[in-house]
Amino acid sequence: MPSSVHADLHCHSTISDGTLTPEDVARRAHANGVTLWALTDHDEVAGQPRAARAAAALGMDYLTGVEISVTFADTTVHIVGLGFDADNAALVQGLAATRDGRDARGREMAAQLDAVGIHGAYEGAMRYAGNPALLARPHFARYIVEQGLCADVSEVFRKYLTEGKPGYVPHRWARLGDAVRWITEAGGLAVIAHPARYRFSPTEEYALFSEFKTHGGRGVEVVTGSHTRTEYATYTDMAREFDLLASTGSDFHSPDESHADLGSLPPLPQGLTPVWEPLAHRIRHAH
Ligand code: AMP
Ligand code: MN
Ligand code: MN
Ligand code: MN
Repeated sequence: MPSSVHADLHCHSTISDGTLTPEDVARRAHANGVTLWALTDHDEVAGQPRAARAAAALGMDYLTGVEISVTFADTTVHIVGLGFDADNAALVQGLAATRDGRDARGREMAAQLDAVGIHGAYEGAMRYAGNPALLARPHFARYIVEQGLCADVSEVFRKYLTEGKPGYVPHRWARLGDAVRWITEAGGLAVIAHPARYRFSPTEEYALFSEFKTHGGRGVEVVTGSHTRTEYATYTDMAREFDLLASTGSDFHSPDESHADLGSLPPLPQGLTPVWEPLAHRIRHAH
């Protein structure tokens, strides 16, 4: 594949916890020079036909995408799926089961927030949820900022929404092997999202990478909005050590909140095989 591919294979829309519609994310990606795009909403593929249509209209190549929430070693790990059949019944059903429980978790988060003086958080967060089946922590964060209780979303996460804080409710997501299998059996390729974010010990990280491989996982995000340049190098080495394909994506959520804009990251390091090479037959070409 020529290095002229400018890929962004990780971002979010109003179908999950992003603030732009799939069409607006497509327009922004295209305006920023992206030539190969995937919309990877959390635990939901309902936005895929809209994203693919918008990409085609703009002349961008498209891969289907999703970011599945997984619990591994008592930690939430995200697995990105790329190039699958979005109508695959087992995948669609597995994602529905993964989403299930978000509402109850949201109500419990609101009860805990209420106890520390933040009232109406469930209803408030729901107003920000473009998809009520996908109530997520950023929706709560946006409500708490709106209430003037924190200056920005990252402050809300620091003070309320992370482990040990009053609005944090632990949750059991999908199993690693199930998530990888849903993606793979739907014809796609599974990728470990932003590995530096998990703060695993070296032993735990080794276990994640080896079990992921055992289940048929194929790729790892090397360049992502969640990694520093030092971490690009760390996960370049990990991709080589575990013989994994390399992926890249901004993890864009919102013009106001995201670290990295769509299409703004440097190219993948030389010598790695990009995840889109073996997915060439799954790319929907714009023309
Ligand atoms: P949930 O799936 O409801 O647990 O929400 C997870 C989402 O919250 C992630 O996909 C990010 O969009 C966002 N998030 C997680 N941690 C942070 C943080 N420290 N600051 C800002 N956003 C975060
Ligand atoms: Mn998110
Ligand atoms: Mn993620
Ligand atoms: Mn993401």
